[in-house]
Amino acid sequence: MVNDMTLREIIDNSRRIVFFGGAGVSTESGIPDFRSEDGLYRQKYDVPPEVMLSAGYFYSHTEDFFRFYREKMLPLDAKPNAAHHKLAQWEHAGKLLAVVTQNIDGLHQAAGSRRVFELHGSIHRNYCLSCHKRYTAREIADSRGIPRCSCGGIIKPDVVLYEEPLDGDVIDGALSAISSADTLIVAGTSLTVYPAATFVNYFHGDSLVLINRDPTPLDGKCTLVLHEKVGEVLGVLPSYLDGEEMA
Ligand code: NAD
Repeated sequence: MVNDMTLREIIDNSRRIVFFGGAGVSTESGIPDFRSEDGLYRQKYDVPPEVMLSAGYFYSHTEDFFRFYREKMLPLDAKPNAAHHKLAQWEHAGKLLAVVTQNIDGLHQAAGSRRVFELHGSIHRNYCLSCHKRYTAREIADSRGIPRCSCGGIIKPDVVLYEEPLDGDVIDGALSAISSADTLIVAGTSLTVYPAATFVNYFHGDSLVLINRDPTPLDGKCTLVLHEKVGEVLGVLPSYLDGEEMA
């Protein structure tokens, strides 16, 4: 039956939690998502964001791509919020197997999470298309026009653009974690980006929990549905570190 257990009871009884998140996990860190009222897709651009973030646009309009990317996709001052911190604590306490994220902002690692499967890559990894030399996100942010390597090659962010496939090893790791979880928490995602949205189908554990401000296609299939802010919900739960079990 839906909603017959509290989240606290579910987490207390879980030993192999996997967290599957999207852009909504970072809105409480001040990074806009894509599809909410104030999200990027509701803003007016001459070219739609999903086109500007496509591989075709990157290669055909490279300078325009980087103008948009620097302005909207590099929130380098953002800090992890209560959701990122609680998930890192659960991993350290041995309760959480992995975080699977569609986000590219690196905030789970900044909070201390170690096993993070970044389905769509990371703004923090950038490499030269010619010689593969690596660059930081700060170097991209500080560059002008088309960022160039010392060898002259174009530097590309290691983010999965529309029209590009996901990394096979990342998919394998994410699906293996999800399929061995006892509890899957899905949060902050509209579940409309494919193939990532299909990953929840690999879960066969006991409790499927959804924490999302707006309804999603998954709501009817969950053990527990909370239409609330993920940082506020996770923030009040115990860390389970050093035997801490009281909320
Ligand atoms: P989305 O924008 O399609 O949906 C976000 C969902 O999160 C919405 O349903 C919204 O109701 C919910 N939400 C927003 N704030 C919330 C909060 N505080 N608590 C709970 N729910 C909240 O995002 P998506 O499904 O992740 O797909 C967008 C794609 O864009 C992803 O693939 C991701 O790679 C990329 N993206 C990443 C970032 C980032 O790295 N921070 C930011 C924007 C977009």
